[in-house]
Amino acid sequence: MKHYKIAVLAGDGIGPEITREAIKVLKLIEERNDVTFELLPAAFGACAYFEFGDAFPPSTIEICDRADAILKGPIGLSHEESKQIPIDKQPERGALLPMRRRYNTYANFRPVSLPKALAHFSPLKPEIVGEGIDIIMVRELVGGLYFGAKETGVNEQGLRYVKETLEYDEQQIKQILLQAFKLARKRKKVLHNIHKSNVLKSSVLWNEILDEVAKDFPDVEVIHQLVDSAATNLCLKPTQFDVMVMENMFGDILSDQGGGILGSLGLMPSACIGDEKAYYEPSHGSAPDIAGKNIANPYSMIGSVAMMLENSFAMEAEAKNVWNAMQAVFADGFSTADLSKPGSGVKMIGTDAFGDKVVEKLKAMPRV
Ligand code: NAD
Repeated sequence: MKHYKIAVLAGDGIGPEITREAIKVLKLIEERNDVTFELLPAAFGACAYFEFGDAFPPSTIEICDRADAILKGPIGLSHEESKQIPIDKQPERGALLPMRRRYNTYANFRPVSLPKALAHFSPLKPEIVGEGIDIIMVRELVGGLYFGAKETGVNEQGLRYVKETLEYDEQQIKQILLQAFKLARKRKKVLHNIHKSNVLKSSVLWNEILDEVAKDFPDVEVIHQLVDSAATNLCLKPTQFDVMVMENMFGDILSDQGGGILGSLGLMPSACIGDEKAYYEPSHGSAPDIAGKNIANPYSMIGSVAMMLENSFAMEAEAKNVWNAMQAVFADGFSTADLSKPGSGVKMIGTDAFGDKVVEKLKAMPRV
């Protein structure tokens, strides 16, 4: 029997609520398969700062180091609450970026997926959703502006200033492009390269490296699109995209827009992959506006479990069952509040009921 250790970082805000539902699914997967999961809960984010004075404390680092995979809930506080924590210890700067750096999880895969049958969830017109949206955004996750040197001070004129550096080397660019080309080759063999080479030198180098990497993928068509234009096209014609690759900050912003065109960030799971370690997290934040109300959509967290099964434990068939179980709950007309607007005909259920229904559907699926 296979045995895997999973560090479970429930995080802040809605994190604990949606993590609870993901764990229900993991427990059922254990029952259905020749596998055991040793769940190792650990504090991460603002909750860890309040308990240990550190958003990524040594006890959590130790657990993550020995885990086979990390399942991470969203972290962070509302704008006002975050002022309780010194700037450099706030959840993203104090925990998220250090974790990404520690495990060099450079490749972030963010599916933006909505089958035609669920087109009513999208704010876009049905004719724009067409046969459905099925995009994977590949975001570089450990370089660029978010990781470059930062400096603040007062300049010679007595004015406060800030300087942040956008830095990549060719190896960093090459490794993410390779991941994107490999994925495009497995899918429709079309890769949208999203950049800003008309302004940024970093994009010029990115595109040079892309031309070099592309030589090994003659079967993959590359389509260049400026990031601003890509933002428009995501709204006007999202079905033109299949695999999109982009640097860190572009990916952060465009993937939230991806959640927008689906109808909710609650539909956005993700996988953050390094050569030796991977962690899985919803693309969205801790949603302090709805925390503790049992209305958050746990799809993003359960979908992150499915991505973990596939990428870290080679359980592709069971991962597919998890996706299908969630789609089956939607097909029965149920959803959480984010996707059941008045008049939509969707029956609104709570976070816990959504998790229970996914478990019911999964139980009914043939074992693999
Ligand atoms: P957010 O993603 O938390 O929320 C944006 C909107 O989406 C809110 O209206 C929220 O209610 C809704 N939403 C998000 N997830 C949902 C879900 N599963 N179900 C239903 N609705 C959902 O963005 P924000 O409000 O700008 O940020 C809140 C906090 O999260 C901040 O502290 C921010 O720094 C942090 N954050 C963390 C991560 C991360 O952990 N990787 C990512 C983004 C933001």
